[in-house]
Amino acid sequence: MKTLDIIVPVYNEEACLDKTMQRLLKLKETFKGKLNLNCIFVNDGSKDKTLQILEENAKKDKSIKVINFSRNFGHQMALSAGLDYSKGDYIAIIDGDLQDPPELIYDMYEKSLEGYDIVYGKRLKRKQETIFKKLSAWGFYRVLKSMCNLDIPTDTGDFRFITKDVREAFNQMREKHRFIRGMVPWTGFRSAPMPFIRDERVAGETKYPLSKMLKLAFDGIFSFSFKPIDFIFALSAILFIASLIIITAGFLTELEEEYIICFALTLVGSINLLAMGILGQYIGRIYDETRNRPLYIVKNTINF
Ligand code: UDP
Ligand code: MG
Repeated sequence: MKTLDIIVPVYNEEACLDKTMQRLLKLKETFKGKLNLNCIFVNDGSKDKTLQILEENAKKDKSIKVINFSRNFGHQMALSAGLDYSKGDYIAIIDGDLQDPPELIYDMYEKSLEGYDIVYGKRLKRKQETIFKKLSAWGFYRVLKSMCNLDIPTDTGDFRFITKDVREAFNQMREKHRFIRGMVPWTGFRSAPMPFIRDERVAGETKYPLSKMLKLAFDGIFSFSFKPIDFIFALSAILFIASLIIITAGFLTELEEEYIICFALTLVGSINLLAMGILGQYIGRIYDETRNRPLYIVKNTINF
């Protein structure tokens, strides 16, 4: 029988883990006679009892597999490790806090049988999330879409179902700054959306503070688009024209010289800094690529 690996990244999820595991293991019944199920939990350097809970459950059930990171490498690295270790014919990626309903994986599987290699969860609605999170996510996906030549679906996180072929293509991409929801569509396989309502977190708090959200957003933009560089180019043209106008106006009118100089210096200075910042984003990424460190370090694995 073919196998399905469900990849679950977990970071300090002791409050959710039992419930998540119960709901995931129930899927074994749903898939009975169709697919064998494995759950690959990636412990992303949790500091609470997450690892302990995983170890206890993995002892009782060999289909619960654990990849234990040496420290916190981040959600995207945890997913990458899960995909590297997976040997299944099908792979599902799901969050560990039950915001993505596990039961939908079966619908995704059925959809994939219609001839799709990627079935991605598309969020119609987000329950109980802050206005800031909803608005920033709404804006981000649209800015990203307008910036990239690639068709990255809007309102789509990492909750998705893929075939082995997609995994193999994906695993060839070893870039250090990873935006998986863009890298999967990049592989070009046939894909279909699976609409769903994103539930509220079953317990605990978000593990995505603003700093991690911004890092992910920057990785999405700078790894998939050169539009920020075009933006610098356009700004320099605008600034050039603006300075010509200001200088001419300065000569023709009684405007105070200090005022013009001060205005021009501030403007030029800030735009220069912005341009350097944007270039820095690309240069930093080149540096990370040339350093060529491993994406993550695994301390140990269980049941592999
Ligand atoms: N996560 C992780 N490493 C991190 C942050 C998050 O493995 O550094 C996991 C987390 O345990 C959860 C998933 O990634 O299973 C999504 O995180 P979270 O639910 O906190 O994000 P949100 O849904 O609030 O965007
Ligand atoms: Mg969540």
